[in-house]
Amino acid sequence: MTTLTTAPAGRIQLRRADALLIVDVQNDFVPGGSLAVPRGDEIVPVLNRYIEAFDAAGLPVFATRDWHPADHCSFKAQGGSWPSHCVAGTPGAAFARTLMLPESATIVSKATERARDAYSGFAGTELEAKLRRIGALQLFVGGLATDYCVLSTVRDARALGFGVMLLTDAIRAVDVRQGDGARAEAEMLALGARPMALDRLSV
Ligand SMILES: [Zn+2]
Repeated sequence: MTTLTTAPAGRIQLRRADALLIVDVQNDFVPGGSLAVPRGDEIVPVLNRYIEAFDAAGLPVFATRDWHPADHCSFKAQGGSWPSHCVAGTPGAAFARTLMLPESATIVSKATERARDAYSGFAGTELEAKLRRIGALQLFVGGLATDYCVLSTVRDARALGFGVMLLTDAIRAVDVRQGDGARAEAEMLALGARPMALDRLSV
């Protein structure tokens, strides 16, 4: 007998070439920080569940961080667009307190030079080389903010040929213009990123 019900969304089993990539979950980007993403803190407990699953499966966890000099070109005082944020070594640049990164996590610092900004975790970093070295093929990407650093990181990941699972329950947008976050998500899916949420993860 034929049924017309929609097939349930497929379960996702973590595989050997998978890696978790957490983008810029830093104190300055969550409420209370100098460049807070609205409700950015809500993704931390969700990311912790993904971290737990990857760690339990013996799979790698990467975390990027904005890591600026105090006179970085992206700051308003230097003619940039943003308030001062994520100055290297300050509490604002530290990962969000409640983010449970495993000791084995690989930390990738970006936009560390005064004259150069970088939204993507791949821009001017060793991220690609490190992923290639361990044979990672598919990246599960979450973090902040959907419409800036997550978007740029996913663009580069796709251009470099990595599969991307976009963790739609573990991203939040700045939405400087209303709809920026939704447009960024649409662009990432158009680039071949596949959306998923925690309830699809087989553990
Ligand atoms: Zn920055």
